[in-house]
Amino acid sequence: MPTKSAGQLFDKVLIANRGEIALRIQRACRELGIKTVMVHSEADADAKYVRLADESVCIGPPASAQSYLNIPAIISAAEVTDAQAIHPGYGFLSENADFAEKVEKSGFVFIGPRADTIRLMGDKVNAKVAMAKAGIPCVPGSEGVLPEDTKEIIKIARGVKYPVIIKSAAGGGGRGMRVVHTEAALLSAVSLTRAEAGAAFSNPAVYMEKYLEKPRHIEIQVLADEQKNAVYLFERDCSMQRRHQKIIEEAPAPGIPLRSLTRIGERCADACRKIGYRGAGTFEFLYEDDEFFFIEMNTRIQVEHPVTELVTGIDIVQQQIRVAAGQRLAFRQRDVTRRGHAIECRINAEDPYTFVPSPGRITSYHAPGGPGIRVDSHAYHNYFVPPNYDSMVGKVIAFGDTREQAIARMRIALSEMVVEGIKTNIPLHQELLLDDAFLRGGASIHYLEQRMAKRKPTA
Ligand code: ADP
Repeated sequence: MPTKSAGQLFDKVLIANRGEIALRIQRACRELGIKTVMVHSEADADAKYVRLADESVCIGPPASAQSYLNIPAIISAAEVTDAQAIHPGYGFLSENADFAEKVEKSGFVFIGPRADTIRLMGDKVNAKVAMAKAGIPCVPGSEGVLPEDTKEIIKIARGVKYPVIIKSAAGGGGRGMRVVHTEAALLSAVSLTRAEAGAAFSNPAVYMEKYLEKPRHIEIQVLADEQKNAVYLFERDCSMQRRHQKIIEEAPAPGIPLRSLTRIGERCADACRKIGYRGAGTFEFLYEDDEFFFIEMNTRIQVEHPVTELVTGIDIVQQQIRVAAGQRLAFRQRDVTRRGHAIECRINAEDPYTFVPSPGRITSYHAPGGPGIRVDSHAYHNYFVPPNYDSMVGKVIAFGDTREQAIARMRIALSEMVVEGIKTNIPLHQELLLDDAFLRGGASIHYLEQRMAKRKPTA
């Protein structure tokens, strides 16, 4: 394995992911003069982004369990190609503490936080306890995992007050949660969520939170180095969600007082210093009546990172790589400024109204462009969207001096964009970009679901 002195960038990075984020990481590496190794499953062997990499290694059959989640195969690929570091992207192994640990034990650098930080934040109950201790306000709820004793559970719910939400401690991706409005429904909801969590995440532990009726999802992006310097790159508003999954994100969040944002941002950066956080991370909050309530921390790059990049001018993926190589952050909080407004629409291969995935061959593809438009996508004419993975085929990000300009540019971009042969959610985005509540800004996380429910009879 080639050696490297502290702070010197890597010669070669292995990208343990696929699709648009694999291409995004590849672009960051190339700009930094770093060679790339792309691992891929048999389903992704012909993808253009795989061929664009300096080297590629097939790590298994299409099923993620045998390829993108196959730790020994990924580590062997790093060994045979002499890569020095591994970037996990998002999803797959990005928040798997055992993977991070094995990567480092095998002599490679894991581009992300330390394994113990990932482990702490991966358990949402422990994460809340740690964050409350570090001065971050949390959603009121059970103090830890719900006990077996049913009387005790009923008592906790009465204390929290209905409606409550039962959430899996190991949950992710918007799965493993259930809202409960009355005491009569409580115990069965707890057992069902436990059973689901056990099956999906091999951990049946659940906890309870107050179910907020009209919150917005506001998150704070942070960056921290090994020398305990930490900065926040302001917020993103990710309230447009379907099935607890984000589809439109923007920065800045419309209508939130800068004073409140600065206060919560400072607390997040401070919490990073307290827990010795390293790399890029996101503190997710529900925001209601000008109060922030922590729900979880993501210890990885996020899908929606481009909106922050466009308003701050900071390349978050390159910063992840620099920090992992031991470099100090080259800027302080006072150097972080932002300008204009950015909006991201996630383009999914799915029915726009039922959300049923629509994999298959893209028979015609045209990406939009023009002033203020960025397209992060691995798709192209004749690309086959495999049925095995997440349905997202790309992201369109629009930047403008004002929110109105960003929206106008996004509308034009989506009208230019052609993706044929599969269904996409572009028509839904186009409707939302004309929707009064979206145009006003500040809609709650429940808005889109309620809007979809209303259109059902005519759909
Ligand atoms: P995941 O790890 O699956 O993304 P989160 O805890 O981040 O789970 O929650 C995902 C989404 O679920 C939030 O963005 C929000 O829409 C909804 N949600 C979670 N907790 C609550 C709560 N206490 N009240 C209302 N909605 C919630």
